[in-house]
Amino acid sequence: MEKMKDKTLLTTLGREPEKNFGIINPPVYHASTVLFSTVKDMRELNSKPRRFVRYGLSGTPTQFALEEALAKIEGGHDCALFPSGLAAISMALMAFVHSGDHILMVDSVYGPTRRFCDHWLSRMGVATTYYDPLIGGGIMDLIRPETKVVFTESPGSLTFEVQDIPAISAAAKEKGLVVMMDNTWATPWFFKPFEKGVDVSIQAGTKYIAGHSDVLLGSVTTTEAAWPLVHRAAQGFGQQAAPDDCYLALRGLRTMDIRLERQQATALTLARWLMDRPEVDRVLHPALPEDPGHEIWKRDFTGSSGLFGVILKPCASESLENMLDGYSLFGMGYSWGGFESLIIPVDMQLVRTTTAWEAAGPTLRIHAGLEDPEDLIGDLEAGFRRL
Ligand SMILES: *Cc1c(COP(=O)(O)O)cnc(C)c1O
Repeated sequence: MEKMKDKTLLTTLGREPEKNFGIINPPVYHASTVLFSTVKDMRELNSKPRRFVRYGLSGTPTQFALEEALAKIEGGHDCALFPSGLAAISMALMAFVHSGDHILMVDSVYGPTRRFCDHWLSRMGVATTYYDPLIGGGIMDLIRPETKVVFTESPGSLTFEVQDIPAISAAAKEKGLVVMMDNTWATPWFFKPFEKGVDVSIQAGTKYIAGHSDVLLGSVTTTEAAWPLVHRAAQGFGQQAAPDDCYLALRGLRTMDIRLERQQATALTLARWLMDRPEVDRVLHPALPEDPGHEIWKRDFTGSSGLFGVILKPCASESLENMLDGYSLFGMGYSWGGFESLIIPVDMQLVRTTTAWEAAGPTLRIHAGLEDPEDLIGDLEAGFRRL
């Protein structure tokens, strides 16, 4: 199994039909209490392997199946599951910091991660410095004696700057820091975090892994060295993902590659079409050769997902609302990674503190779904007429 290619792994990982009447998919176990026959069995629980069924919170074969599949496909040692992507991020951070510590956080980070640092970590005495996403090896200059973690997210899910993860990891390693990455945009299908020096890789499984806009889920996959602290934090804070959600995520994982390949192609078609529009100032998509992050993206990633940004030329907010309110295919709503196309306006002034964000007009974030790209272009074209 170790030597199989990723496509094969996505279809085979996390299922053992021979242990389940030959049924292809793992069963959904709903469990809190697990019964033991003897006192001796109960007393020996702590010497049992990690994936031993002891209590609902520590997992059942349903969760074990997804954990094993995600750990393998990301190339990590083990994986902990959480009820949302944000829970995975906050727990990963909590696992490694003490009061008095300092973390380095990328300035283009997902907004709720920023709020977790500014509110919750700060009130526990953990300081956060936001750094320029393009800092690369220059991160070295920001490392203090009390710095514990460098957190990355590449590309940023609103502004799409690509980070030089290998250079950041090399600097962090020299100082013994833990490197975390929110790898939700690329998924393990397009970016292999552990080959690039990441210690702790986080997925909002809510997005492409589940893939159908009906599940909230997070995962934290780590190296062997980082695993004990993450595992202890997840258990200590009582974190687990619901069995039905794990089942749906495992089902989503089977088709993640083909959904992503199509969404990648559609996103690029839309991005190129938008680049030629007179209403558009700039398209933010690292897979376009014109994008400033393209070289690093090409070096480190094997593809691009369906999420990208567009900066329009300045326009009246009324015209913008007129455009956005009238789409028939593009829905307006948070989250992404499902089968349907989405568009939202982004207020960039709210989400930066260290680096200025230069945009003459409004910024939009687009998610390409599985619809026919010609229909999507028709919808966008009608929008520009309303604008
Ligand atoms: C959506 C998202 C999250 C959080 O996932 P939830 O399951 O919605 O909590 C984290 N990081 C990124 C980049 C995201 O887009």
